[in-house]
Order: sequence, then structure tokens, then C-alpha cells
Amino acid sequence: MPLSPYTHVFAGNPLDRAGDRRADAAWLAGLKADPAARALAFWNGKPLLADGRIAWLPVGFAEGLASPDRTLFLGLDGESGVFAVDIEGEADPGEGVLEGRGAFADLRAVISTLTMEDAAILAAARSLFEWRRRHRYCSVCGQPSDLAEGGWKRVCPSCRAEHFPRTDPVAIMLPWHGDRCLLGRQASWVDGMFSALAGFIEPGESVEEACARELSEEAGLRTRNVVYHSSQPWPFPSSLMIGLTAEVEDDEGQPDQTELSEVRWFTRPEARALLAGEIPGLKCPGPHAIAHHLLRTWAET
Ligand SMILES: [Zn+2]
Repeated sequence: MPLSPYTHVFAGNPLDRAGDRRADAAWLAGLKADPAARALAFWNGKPLLADGRIAWLPVGFAEGLASPDRTLFLGLDGESGVFAVDIEGEADPGEGVLEGRGAFADLRAVISTLTMEDAAILAAARSLFEWRRRHRYCSVCGQPSDLAEGGWKRVCPSCRAEHFPRTDPVAIMLPWHGDRCLLGRQASWVDGMFSALAGFIEPGESVEEACARELSEEAGLRTRNVVYHSSQPWPFPSSLMIGLTAEVEDDEGQPDQTELSEVRWFTRPEARALLAGEIPGLKCPGPHAIAHHLLRTWAET
């Protein structure tokens, strides 16, 4: 039975992360030595794909493409180890050592073409690699840190501080009042695009408080009630989108002209038409985005 009625793109990773075993270096080495072990490859944040699927490589071959601290243990597929390697450098390995095995693709650009399973595996790998790329040095003493636990932790050899991958929580919410909901647009978005409102949750703030603050700051709305909908990992680089609906006190609302350039109220029939792409000149995010499902749930209630 699913954990939630909503499993979004980038969630639903089918691998067993084996978080209770990955600290065992000998166990990981044994998994790598198994001929059934496989690895995916990233190059500068882009995954290697072939025919729209992850292009799996023998793990020994993949490890040779990157320095030793750039191999990540993703989890178990049955009893077999699944790994990822992070290749850096200017030259595209897809046109060199990996020629014929696939091509490196922009993950955002191919979201809607991936299987749910592949998207979730790639999301975990991408977020971890981005964390490694941005946290190579101990944030306590500044020394280079060492990879541990298959890449899920870094340890400082100097001060022994332990560092863990970060996940940045974002509240993403659909405000509604009476029979209308509000969507906003940022000036930088493609013409006609409207979506749910969103913002990072700040230290010392609950999810509900962040939702109310963002609605106040961005659209001048006073929040009456917040209801959790679902969540979505978003690996650009490491957000967790926490989807909410929020009843607000009136149907006024003004864009702050900083985050939002425009806000607009939609009735349920209008929201359904927007989702169906039937309002000329207006659009909303597709099904790969949690905002789509927030709007659909409200519109179809
Ligand atoms: Zn340190």
C-alpha cells in the first residue's frame, strides 16, 4: 500500500538504501566486487542516459572514470550493489571514453521522459554529488574532509567533525478563499506561466509558519489554516518541496513585485481549464511538479 496518495517524480526510489550497513567498508567492497554490481555516471551534474533510461555501467569500469572519493553507494537492488560515479572536467566523456554508451543529459530537460524509478535514483545521486561538490572542506576547521559511509557522510580528519548531506525544506502552497485559489508568477518565468507560491523554510520556523510568512510577504495574504498535501524531493540541488494548501482570510492579495510580478485568482472551473491547457495565453506546471498536483487536488475537490 502506498505511503501517500501522491508519489511525485523524484520520490519512490526503489533501491534499499541499506543505511544500517553502508558504514561497513568491507561490506561495500564486497558488493563492488560482485559482477552483478552496476553504476550510473554523472558528468558535471548531468546523468548518462541511453534510450531514455539510465545507462548502467560495470562498477569497476565506472570507478576508473573518476577519482576514488567520487563513487557513491546508492543502495541495493535485491542483493546487488548499485553505485554512482561523479565525473568532472571540461571534456564530455560521452564523446570520449563513454562513446557509444549513451549521452549526458540535463536532468531538468528530461524529467517528463524518465521512468519514476530512474528519476528517483538520479535525484538521490544528483543531490549527494552536488553536496559533495559544495562541501569538500570541513565547515568547522576548514580542512579537506573525507568521504565515509559510501558517500552519505563526510568526516574531517583533523577535528573529527562529521558532516551529513543537507536537505533544504521549501514550503510550496496553494492559497484559497471561498471558491477561488490564487496562483502567482515570477517575471523570469516563461510568458503566461502561473504556479503555486513557494519559499525556503527558515531556522526556528514550523512548516505552517513558513507558509503563512511567505503568503504574507509575497502576496499580502493572511493565512487562516494550513493543510499538508504531499512532498517532493527536488534535486536542484537538494530541496524537499513540502506541498500545502492554505485557506486565507480574503480574496485580495497583491504581488510584492520582488518575488512575484503578478497574482491571479482562479475558480475551480478555471483551474481545471488551466490544467488542461485550455486558457489561451496561460499555463501552469506539468505533472512532474508538485504545484500541478496541489492545483489539481483543489480544482477537483
Ligand atoms: Zn574539521
